[in-house]
Amino acid sequence: MEGREITDIKRSDGDTPQETLPATDVVIIGAGFGGLYAHQRLRQLGLTLQGFEAAPGVGGTWYWNAYPGARCDVESLDYCYSFSDELLEEWEWSERFATQPEILRYANHVADRFDLRHDIAFDTRITSCTFDDATNRWTLETDTGKCISARFVIAATGCLSAPILPDIDGIESFAGTIVQTSAWPHDGVELAGKRVGIIGTGSSGIQTIPVIAQSAAHLTVFQRTPNFSLPARNGPVSPEKLARVKADYPAYARSNKLTPAAYQVSVPSDLPEIWSPGRSALDASDEERSAIWDTLWNAGGTGFTYSYTDLTTNADSNQLVAEYVHGKIRDIVDDPETAEKLCPKTNPFGTKRLCLDSDYFATFNRPNVSLVDLRATPITRITADGVEVGETVHSLDVLIFATGFDAMTGPLLRMNVKGVGGTSLNEEWADGPHNYLGLMVAGFPNLFSVTGPGSPSVLTNMIPSVEQHIDWIADCLEHLVAHGLERIEATPTAQEEWGEEVRRAASHSLFLKADSWYMGANVPGKPRVILPYMGGFSNYAERCEEIARGGYPGFTLSAALVHEPSA
Ligand code: FAD
Ligand code: NAP
Repeated sequence: MEGREITDIKRSDGDTPQETLPATDVVIIGAGFGGLYAHQRLRQLGLTLQGFEAAPGVGGTWYWNAYPGARCDVESLDYCYSFSDELLEEWEWSERFATQPEILRYANHVADRFDLRHDIAFDTRITSCTFDDATNRWTLETDTGKCISARFVIAATGCLSAPILPDIDGIESFAGTIVQTSAWPHDGVELAGKRVGIIGTGSSGIQTIPVIAQSAAHLTVFQRTPNFSLPARNGPVSPEKLARVKADYPAYARSNKLTPAAYQVSVPSDLPEIWSPGRSALDASDEERSAIWDTLWNAGGTGFTYSYTDLTTNADSNQLVAEYVHGKIRDIVDDPETAEKLCPKTNPFGTKRLCLDSDYFATFNRPNVSLVDLRATPITRITADGVEVGETVHSLDVLIFATGFDAMTGPLLRMNVKGVGGTSLNEEWADGPHNYLGLMVAGFPNLFSVTGPGSPSVLTNMIPSVEQHIDWIADCLEHLVAHGLERIEATPTAQEEWGEEVRRAASHSLFLKADSWYMGANVPGKPRVILPYMGGFSNYAERCEEIARGGYPGFTLSAALVHEPSA
């Protein structure tokens, strides 16, 4: 599989003597929102914990993606933990869609408030995880030469934490500064007055391009595929929504978890009366659709996608909404040729991750911004001076890669995981991921993945999703301890049936037609399968609950084979 990282990772070079850390009950990998909550929740079970995090600090996504313009596309009042009523009440968000620095401050606040750092080794990447069938324990190795034995492993390694750098000829020869949005230096990158180039026009590119254009001498955008983007219309948190939510924040947060996306999108008050929920776009007249879409477009955010039920399942409805957005792009962008290049036509609307932007399309009206269409002429090579496209060299001082991630499976497969009998996870998943509920893989006992492939995860507001997974895992560990059990494993049958369910849930969706990371299509050689579960968060969470209540059907639970006490 292609794709390289320029993230600086330290690796044990073999000469470094390995230090064995005291054995522990649970290793938690990652200190993003998933890992942090795992520490908070599992500490209450009285188990010994050891955390590892590749970054120097907490925050995960929000530590790494510190590029200019990075912000949430779920409203801040919803994109937060709900495990503590006090935390909900005391934290104040300043904007409708919070910026990366504000979300990172929130993650640090949570870590401080609940004292979550002391069990975490930062700047430490897990490089291998090996299961010993005789002892029911995992041995993990780090890139700092440490080794640890654990009964259980929680891989809170994220869905979008394995960056990819395309294999473009000559990349090493570039004499200027190369930087990835997904590993943006915290001390910043000098962009003012520079000739900047950016490869990638997904959510990251679309967020950062308008901001960089304001300071760069010139910004060249290298676009392979245009993307659908809706206006965010960011601003201060709306006083009406704030009052409504704060009236009973815990109840509001709980009700988020009863929805398909773990997120309640507010309907604007000026929505035409003709609108009602649950309709097909084809049942509305052209005038009605335009009136409704105009209102939702002007309101900003993802509410637009809730206008009709079949935008991503019915090709005709999809075509109507795609044409509406094309019309908006043509209205905003002055140069008709540039506007046409920015109109997405190769993937159905909403089937690649929809972007939310602040003045993205209008940025192409600036005299210091140019668009290079890589579909017309691909990149030939990168040279010391810049990026060569056909006969033209675009001379640059800074080259930014906003080229995405080996999503969902990448973080797990980069850890060299070996289960029962030395079976490698990479081999097991050679044709795509197989697991039960996105939580456990048959043949890999006691290893839990948080928001793994086959869970709703990336199709939802993700903090409630990680909370739901961690709560389920914590309850499961409590159950094991209470019953004197020390091993849990998904059965091959349950795993196969869940795989069927994941495929069935996607079968009517236009998502299958898109070359998206949801389908693994952004990584050369990656199997083309739907990665997230499309059956909805609330249904999924209910299913997980039922399974726990029913004594964990689909899992094999067992007592010690050979008892070996922790530390
Ligand atoms: P992460 O935040 O990815 O944390 C995983 C951590 O594990 C990372 O810090 C990583 O360094 C660490 N790690 C991974 N492998 C190893 C290893 N082998 N050893 C040690 N450490 C390891 N979701 C939304 O719901 N709304 C949004 O608006 C939104 N915006 C996003 C914007 C960006 C730029 C990106 C990339 C993602 C966004 N997401 C959004 C998804 C986001 O990832 C989740 O919302 C959430 O932050 C995930 O938390 P996590 O703890 O599960 O994973
Ligand atoms: P992405 O959506 O996968 O976009 C990657 C971009 O890089 C695409 O435009 C892709 O073009 C381009 N690219 C990749 N390889 C290339 C090559 N060899 N030559 C030219 N172009 C190339 O990645 P992302 O923008 O980092 O976003 C990933 C996900 O993170 C999002 O989908 C979202 O879930 C999350 N995110 C959210 C926000 C937010 O608004 N809150 C912000 C950033 C990220 P092709 O399409 O042609 O492959």
